[in-house]
Amino acid sequence: MDEKDINIQSNQTEQDLDEETLFVVSQTFKALGDKTRIRILHLLFQKECSVNEIADILDLRQSTVSHQLRFLKNVRLVKYRRAGTTIYYSHDDEHVINVLEQMIAHARHT
Ligand SMILES: [Zn+2]
Repeated sequence: MDEKDINIQSNQTEQDLDEETLFVVSQTFKALGDKTRIRILHLLFQKECSVNEIADILDLRQSTVSHQLRFLKNVRLVKYRRAGTTIYYSHDDEHVINVLEQMIAHARHT
């Protein structure tokens, strides 16, 4: 059992969350609490995109997209790779995809 497993196990028996976990969870919900960021993430769950592509598909200004991508990168929800002069963004976390998909299903069910 490595250190990560031990931490997960000990967390399950705690009655309160530790400060670092609380911080990350609240920051992540904050990141998800914005319509434009939700649209960008939802798109990036489906495919890797450049800033231009995101701006085109979602009909947003490039400066808006860049600003929101920086925010999402800071909370580790997106990552990027460079190919020549183009930077491609993609999502960086399966857990958050699941949360967002659950939320979308929740919004749509009756
Ligand atoms: Zn529901």
